[in-house]
Amino acid sequence: MVPASPYAGRRVCLTTLHGKERVLARPVFHGLGAELLVCGCDTDQLGTFSGEIERPADPVSTCRLKAKLGLAATGLPLGLASEGSFGPHPAVPFLPVGQEVLVFVDLERQLTVVERRLEMRTTFSSRTVGPSDLNSTGFSTWLQQVRFPSHALIARPAQHDPSGRCIKAIRTIADLEVALAHCAAASSNGEVLLETDMRAHCNPTRMASIRRLGFQLVRRIRQLCPACESPGWGRTEAVAGLPCRCCGTATPLMAQERWGCSACCHSELKPRRDGRREADPMHCPWCNP
Ligand SMILES: [Zn+2]
Ligand SMILES: [Zn+2]
Repeated sequence: MVPASPYAGRRVCLTTLHGKERVLARPVFHGLGAELLVCGCDTDQLGTFSGEIERPADPVSTCRLKAKLGLAATGLPLGLASEGSFGPHPAVPFLPVGQEVLVFVDLERQLTVVERRLEMRTTFSSRTVGPSDLNSTGFSTWLQQVRFPSHALIARPAQHDPSGRCIKAIRTIADLEVALAHCAAASSNGEVLLETDMRAHCNPTRMASIRRLGFQLVRRIRQLCPACESPGWGRTEAVAGLPCRCCGTATPLMAQERWGCSACCHSELKPRRDGRREADPMHCPWCNP
């Protein structure tokens, strides 16, 4: 049985300038019985998405700092912040993935609860565009793939622009044409670098991903640690080594889940949720090298 929310009736501060309350208010209300307040303080000092200011810390540290900015501004003890990073899949380099992180900070309990999600559903992409590409089918196919114009783009000169300027939140064909002309003129070879604008309010696919992560996070917060009863008990690691059905060799597939506490060092190993105890020999380094 899931215990009552330890945060019922409380207020939680979300630090965002990008409208993430649209997808996080519901999980916080339905999962925790708490009310979400938005703090729109400027988080650019922690680095920006589009790279004008480099992000100093790893995503979880950035996220925690972001949440604490909101807490300092509002004086509330409960805070929430999200952070995304995008790049090639660690195992399949041509596949783009998003790594979404959501952090809940409770200053009263001195607690930080972290939830992550590797998101395969992402429009993350970039492309260099020359003057001759504009009317090509390849370019219009790419625009469809990145779901423009429902998902916004960023344009910058591909080469030698000392100002480092970029045009963000491009959402219409007309704006795209203006941005391309502008950036091509500033680029020494006339080429423009187009990227997907991954800020949440510019990318509905990412917004949906943050919503899913919000529900994951409140589920974890509702679970209390069996050792210290602190909120934030949940899966922390997949432990590989599911034995091969034919020879018993450990395979790279997950054998167990490690669950851990967000406050103390208690952890437990649990069997796979799907009940599988053996791997197909196709995954076995011995039977199928
Ligand atoms: Zn604990
Ligand atoms: Zn085997």
